[in-house]
Amino acid sequence: MEQLPNCPKCNSEYTYEDGSLFICPECAHEWSKDAVEEVEEDVLVVKDANGTVLADGDDVTVVKDLKVKGSSSGIKVGTKIKGIRLVDGNDDHNIDCKVPGVGAIKLKQEFVKKSS
Ligand SMILES: [Zn+2]
Repeated sequence: MEQLPNCPKCNSEYTYEDGSLFICPECAHEWSKDAVEEVEEDVLVVKDANGTVLADGDDVTVVKDLKVKGSSSGIKVGTKIKGIRLVDGNDDHNIDCKVPGVGAIKLKQEFVKKSS
């Protein structure tokens, strides 16, 4: 028998098929079979302060002084950040990166611009 995917919401393994849908009996989540393969490719478009589309591995520059929890210095305007990673974050915190002197952090896309 074909292995059914776990529920994407609660990770239940008791999902079952109903026509073109998968259904989770535990959290009542329903999703289309067709959507399953596209979940990972759900296109996340992250644009910088200038509206330039960013990509994984891009280098960016911070365009605004930012306060950072747990850091007295925060992130200064003009700080260069190398090798960003795009994530689907809350509130447009879509940029996962390491900032020198601050560490791993998620930044709002509107506070950076792509370095050339
Ligand atoms: Zn579920």
